[in-house]
Amino acid sequence: MNVNDVTRQIAHLVDWLGEFGKDSEGGVTRLLYTKEWIEAQKALEKQMQEDGLTTRYDEIGNLYGRLEGSRYQDETILTGSHVDTVKSGGKLDGAFGIVSGVLALRLLKEQYGQPLRNLEVVSFAEEEGSRFPYAFWGSKNFVGIAKKEEVLDIEDFDGVPFVQAMRDAGFNFRDESKPFRNDIKGFVEIHIEQGNVLENEGKDIGVVHSIVGQRRFTIEITGVANHAGTTPMGYRKDALVAASHMIQDITNKAIEYGDPLVATVGKIEVQPSIVNVVAGSALFTLDVRHTEKEVLVKFTTELTNIIKRIAGTSGVEAAIDMWMDEDPIPMDPQIVEAIEKQTKENGLNYKMMHSGAGHDSQIIAPVVPTAMIFVPSREGISHNPLEYTSPEQLAVGVQALMNSLYALAYSE
Ligand SMILES: [Zn+2]
Repeated sequence: MNVNDVTRQIAHLVDWLGEFGKDSEGGVTRLLYTKEWIEAQKALEKQMQEDGLTTRYDEIGNLYGRLEGSRYQDETILTGSHVDTVKSGGKLDGAFGIVSGVLALRLLKEQYGQPLRNLEVVSFAEEEGSRFPYAFWGSKNFVGIAKKEEVLDIEDFDGVPFVQAMRDAGFNFRDESKPFRNDIKGFVEIHIEQGNVLENEGKDIGVVHSIVGQRRFTIEITGVANHAGTTPMGYRKDALVAASHMIQDITNKAIEYGDPLVATVGKIEVQPSIVNVVAGSALFTLDVRHTEKEVLVKFTTELTNIIKRIAGTSGVEAAIDMWMDEDPIPMDPQIVEAIEKQTKENGLNYKMMHSGAGHDSQIIAPVVPTAMIFVPSREGISHNPLEYTSPEQLAVGVQALMNSLYALAYSE
């Protein structure tokens, strides 16, 4: 197979899908159940059919294209990703996983004919949670854990109810009494890294062995707001100074732990936020991620101690609210091994790594043996019109996906 040809085909498919929802800022906005979203799914359906795949939608609008297996017809290997984007996102996040699935199936069929197991590519309806306050609608319905009650009362920014948007797009709730399909023997999702590790290390492919767990907190510090001129330093209960000590110590502790632990304070609010008043209260958020639950728990305990200690010595009160606690998700060791073996044998320049971002794969992994492949993101930029991976790097990704699907669907 000609490498230039794969490069040309994948670049074409990415640009083609990127036309659906192309916005005035040069990005792509394709929110769940909108006109752009419907047009993209219909175009993908048509493309899959032109590639000789049998297509179908499930009730909520996930789209599947299937290449029938010759021997193990009750066993299916699935690939794909999500078709929705964030507001003014890039052409690659999600989309690349779908079109490289379509292309991989096309090339595998051309080269090797019918697989032994069914091969399917899925275009998941939704992952980002950018139109409605609900993420992973596509994959959660796929594995049967999305609940009707969770979306009955939610609406988008314009006040359109979720249910109405779904019905207007021609879809409906999943029949919750129906069991999860039991033919799926493996899921491989290819995605852009959305970070800068592969680029910095000069690697073409990331073989993902786990997706990080996350804990998120809001920490509220209460001191005493007071006159900046008449309150001597020793008599202050300054919430902002206490918060800044905490942020510094938590960050130092995170650095001490080392990779893959990351801790981020992304937001801080101060009251009354006036130049000549000592801050009476300060609120900051904290996002902590790691691939092992024990480490997450240990770090969380230590940061709680840091906050309490500094609150005590600063004469302020600290309230810690943990509002997100998601466990790390390991990928399936056998599928990871199969991908690594293929990647190595085909001489691709790869790195074993974890994913620091959430993906459909984390929803599917507890039910189906799952693994992920990453391609580099230029400067780590994603969720942005500037998101970019060169056509040559995308083609290496397609190659890695093809090799992996071949190993899973064409071998005894
Ligand atoms: Zn994504």
